[in-house]
Amino acid sequence: MEQQTSGNSNLEYRKKRVKRIKKFLIISLVVLLLVPNVLCAVLMVQVLKINKTLEETQESLWELTVQMEDANAAAVVEQVLSPVQVLDEDIKAVIPDAQMYEGKKLVYLTFDDGPSEYTNEILDILKEYDVKATFFVLAKDGYEEEYQRIIDEGHTLALHSYTHQYSQIYDSPEAFRQDIRQLSDYLYEITGYRCEFYRFPGGSSNSIIQFDKDECFDILEEEGLVYFDWNVTSKDASSYRLSSQAITGNVLNGTSQSQASVVLMHDASDKYTTVQALPEIIESLQAEEDTVFLPITNGTTPVCHVVRSDDGEE
Ligand code: ZN
Repeated sequence: MEQQTSGNSNLEYRKKRVKRIKKFLIISLVVLLLVPNVLCAVLMVQVLKINKTLEETQESLWELTVQMEDANAAAVVEQVLSPVQVLDEDIKAVIPDAQMYEGKKLVYLTFDDGPSEYTNEILDILKEYDVKATFFVLAKDGYEEEYQRIIDEGHTLALHSYTHQYSQIYDSPEAFRQDIRQLSDYLYEITGYRCEFYRFPGGSSNSIIQFDKDECFDILEEEGLVYFDWNVTSKDASSYRLSSQAITGNVLNGTSQSQASVVLMHDASDKYTTVQALPEIIESLQAEEDTVFLPITNGTTPVCHVVRSDDGEE
């Protein structure tokens, strides 16, 4: 009897155990099945969230792109506008002097062959009378301050010659170009200013040039230079020294006959009478109310004794 009881309880115990194992297996199975699903769901939610953020980011990126494009467009507009404004100034600069000072008598005082020991005195006189002029200079060491002063005080610094040796300059087109370039570079190194105007040593009508003069005009054009001769001369380059009165007389006589006078004078060590004549020349012309003194600029009509032969003039 006792044996049977113990056999029964043993069986019961086994059944219970099997049940527990079953339960454990079922729960495990359920858990195993559920966990991935839950994880999946969580992941899905995360993915959705990320997706949304991505969309938002894309949107703001798009907005930013649009804004940048707008900004670029604005910059382009500005870029287009600013050269127009610069152009405007250029247009102002190239208004011919004759138009800008309509009805006035224009006098362009020009000094060749400087600088010299008189340059500062000439500049002092011009400053005193508030007159702007043009200096067609040579390359001379030791006059760095004079070159700079010419520019700083509103005068036009212009090219004449590096060597002023006619036989050398006019020997060949190459020599002619070299003389111009050497002087232009020399002045640029000292002042940082690139000259735009040129005067032929001896004038454009000189007969020293050993080659076709048209080549000179081509070279000047290629070098971006405009040349100026003169239509009034002080004759201070005469072989004998002119008195200051004679120089004054020559200049006033010349300017009285022209509405626009480009006056040839010299800034050289043997030309002190020119310096002495200067105050009277200026005073006499300033006494005429309709006279203005101007430096040569892009607005000045060139005075040329000789032009390119195919231009039909001589
Ligand atoms: Zn000269």
